[in-house]
Amino acid sequence: MNTVNSMSAVELSRQIQKGNISVKEVLNSFLKIAEKYDGILHCYNTVCAETAEKRAGEIQKGIENGRYRGRLAGVPIAIKDNICTKGIATTCSSGILKSFVPFYNASVIESIYNGGMLVTGKLNMDEFAMGSTTQTSATGATKNPWDLNRVAGGSSGGSAAAVAAGLVPLSLGTDTGGSIRQPCSFCGVSGLKPTYSAVSRYGLIAYASSLDQIGPVGRCVEDCAALFELICGPDSKDSTSAKNYHFDFEQAVKGEIKGKKIGIPKEYMSGDINEEVKSAILNAVDVFKSLGASVEYFDLPLSDFATPAYYIIACAEASSNLARFDGVKYGCAAENCGSLDELYVKSRSQGFSMETKRRIMLGNFVLSSGYYEQYYMKALKAQSLISKAFDKAFERFDIILAPVAPATAWGLGEKLDNPVEMYLSDIYTVTVNLAGLPAFAMPCGFDKSGLPVGMQLIGRRFGEAEILSAAKAFESVTEYHKAVPKLVKEGSL
Ligand code: GLN
Repeated sequence: MNTVNSMSAVELSRQIQKGNISVKEVLNSFLKIAEKYDGILHCYNTVCAETAEKRAGEIQKGIENGRYRGRLAGVPIAIKDNICTKGIATTCSSGILKSFVPFYNASVIESIYNGGMLVTGKLNMDEFAMGSTTQTSATGATKNPWDLNRVAGGSSGGSAAAVAAGLVPLSLGTDTGGSIRQPCSFCGVSGLKPTYSAVSRYGLIAYASSLDQIGPVGRCVEDCAALFELICGPDSKDSTSAKNYHFDFEQAVKGEIKGKKIGIPKEYMSGDINEEVKSAILNAVDVFKSLGASVEYFDLPLSDFATPAYYIIACAEASSNLARFDGVKYGCAAENCGSLDELYVKSRSQGFSMETKRRIMLGNFVLSSGYYEQYYMKALKAQSLISKAFDKAFERFDIILAPVAPATAWGLGEKLDNPVEMYLSDIYTVTVNLAGLPAFAMPCGFDKSGLPVGMQLIGRRFGEAEILSAAKAFESVTEYHKAVPKLVKEGSL
């Protein structure tokens, strides 16, 4: 990576605003890397070089005349392909939306444009954000820049791999049950799953509306904090968006940890966790202690129910959200259909992948009249107990520390024929979405094969600044976030 590509996004903007480098130079430097590596990694579904170049000129002028002065003005960003971008295809990596070009922007896109950022393109993901590997994408899997035979994680695999390989300094992902945190952990970058309602979901193509959140992916705390600052806040177009939330950027990058009480759920450090992941987390514990925090274990007894409850709720909502893709209102229509029913059936059969169909069926099943009480209502009860268990933990602790995933990135093709095994790998992340809490994922070590390990810092509702500040403290005495995949460093990708 050259200096432009390795600089933090906030530093890049500073250099642009000082006039040391132009918006166009920065953009071209990233587009060049994308051109070189994306054929191998497949992070992008769409690259919009021309529109970005055009916009670079406008932003340059805007910076010079004082219109754009924000922390990220002039910085390129790539967007997960389930966030609507006006005039740019938004496919959810699905066959059914392959020709969908929105005529409006999601609110987060308006926010980043108002902040003077430029969109380089749309990033690969699991179809409709359903998956943990980016392999359910209709456009093919994204590869992990640390090892091309391994998955990048998912569903925001494109968002994490693009940042890890230096294709772009920042990206947006979405997290319904871990989809920002887990790919960040697999690719050695950082990402924030915001408190539910902190970021507008207007224009996000819904997977499970009560759990979905859009969040930043970057290489360091400061970059993620700056992007979060830009996209968070109330939005009249999203009735669930929090009305009075104010995020304090300065506090978030202070690096405060001394005297903080950190709790670790006992259940997360036993059972199926890989020993190397565990030892990286224990190292992080030592770092936090040396910085003056106290660390204690506690019981989070309901975590066993979390994965089933999550999959029941997420699939139930998905089955309803995805009903609109019928080949008429949205989506590609099947050809040569004799009746309306045939059009629905054929369009959906052809347009959705196996995994999406499985979840629609599961969702319809748990919502059907005979099973609603038995599954869906039970899952909602479990969700409420999980939420209460976290509230109780936060009476004792300021921050909860946990691994992101039980293992590091696994091989491409693995677990694909065993969906339940795949679902179980989400065990440490789904609880956070069920409880609506914020969590920051960041690199904290490597396993023996050199693959990154991630940890997450979970906070109280709207406690983003507090967890980011703790993360910043960790970052300032460690080097994990600076590590670059060997293949990228040597230019041999
Ligand atoms: N892996 C989880 C799932 O498949 C989480 C996905 C997400 O957060 N979008 O549902």
